[in-house]
Amino acid sequence: MSLLTDLDRGMLDLVFPRDCVVTQLPMDEQGMLYLSEDGAQQLERINDPRCYTCGHPFDGILEGDRTCPHCLDLNPAFNRAVCAFRARGHIRKIIHEIKYARCPFLIDDLVSVAIEDALIRRHLAGAHLIPVPLHQEKFNQRTYNQAERIAEIFCQKIPGCTWSRGLIKIKPTPSQTLLSRSERRRNVAKAFQVSPTAHISPNVRYVIIDDVLTTGATLHACAQALRQAGAIHIDAATLAHG
Ligand SMILES: [Zn+2]
Repeated sequence: MSLLTDLDRGMLDLVFPRDCVVTQLPMDEQGMLYLSEDGAQQLERINDPRCYTCGHPFDGILEGDRTCPHCLDLNPAFNRAVCAFRARGHIRKIIHEIKYARCPFLIDDLVSVAIEDALIRRHLAGAHLIPVPLHQEKFNQRTYNQAERIAEIFCQKIPGCTWSRGLIKIKPTPSQTLLSRSERRRNVAKAFQVSPTAHISPNVRYVIIDDVLTTGATLHACAQALRQAGAIHIDAATLAHG
């Protein structure tokens, strides 16, 4: 799935020694490939307390019933979403490179840091992961789906985790970036469908995987499609929230 094979990357590393994507300092030979220990420390992780539904951190600014402003109107078709990082600063830049600068291989290190969180490991253990699909036209342009790679790497690192292309995107949709919350929901409504080759079971716990949760509209639309096909236990996980 990566654009570069390990051999290609090894050759490139001889010519251009890797720098950490956060600190821009040269990587040592140990550990991760593109993220140094210092760089990983600078990523803004999400810790408790966080919203049970969408995973947004409460930051101590909300007291009382802790109603989450991010998913107040969502009433999602998924049960719980867990997110590893805040989608700002270094994370925003890295995810932009993953999606738009042909750097899907940066996902591997982000997943390694994400699963240091015991909640994320528990959330994914034993689940069947279904990445948010790209429409075929978008896939042809990008040549990879970053959500698939996230699911694939989670499965390599978490015991009992499996994944498949259980959903397809049947409607091309404009970018969500500049849309309001209600426009996002309309934009992705009925955009997803269960793949004709998928077997959806009420006994399996599904976790829909994406790079970023913003309003939750995309994950909700995917969860609706799975629910209509018979899924009962549906959760979600993303690398970032924001
Ligand atoms: Zn929330």
